Amino acid sequence: MSDNPYYSRTDTAKLNVDDEEWKKILDEEVFYIARKKGTERAFSGKYWDFEGIGTYYCAVCGNKLFKSDSKFGSSCGWPSFFEADRPNSVNYEEDYTFGMSRTEVLCGRCESHLGHIFDDGPPPTGKRFCMNSVVLDFEPDQEGSK
Ligand code: FE
Repeated sequence: MSDNPYYSRTDTAKLNVDDEEWKKILDEEVFYIARKKGTERAFSGKYWDFEGIGTYYCAVCGNKLFKSDSKFGSSCGWPSFFEADRPNSVNYEEDYTFGMSRTEVLCGRCESHLGHIFDDGPPPTGKRFCMNSVVLDFEPDQEGSK
């Protein structure tokens, strides 16, 4: 990601970058999911059954999205979380494509598509953030810190 000038894990200022610019910066796979609202194949991503302890960031812009302690084992084939790191980590938008009524989850900083949210998650929230591994960057916790 060193060639992505917008990537920052500390800057929370909203980005307004168009797809033409993102296309020059992002890997093809990341661009397709993040900017064209694609979906990775179930059970194909690197995080769906991953249990590392740490933090997940937006692979497009570095925004902090989820902590591993809100991740749960889901049989759906995509990494699933019951809550976002902060209320403004993500934005929501109604999505009526493919003849379904769903709520899309977007990065709160760069507005990239991350996945969808459903009401069949575990306590305490009952929510399931169903995310694409491709648009997540995992960073393990340093030993001794949390
Ligand atoms: Fe982002």
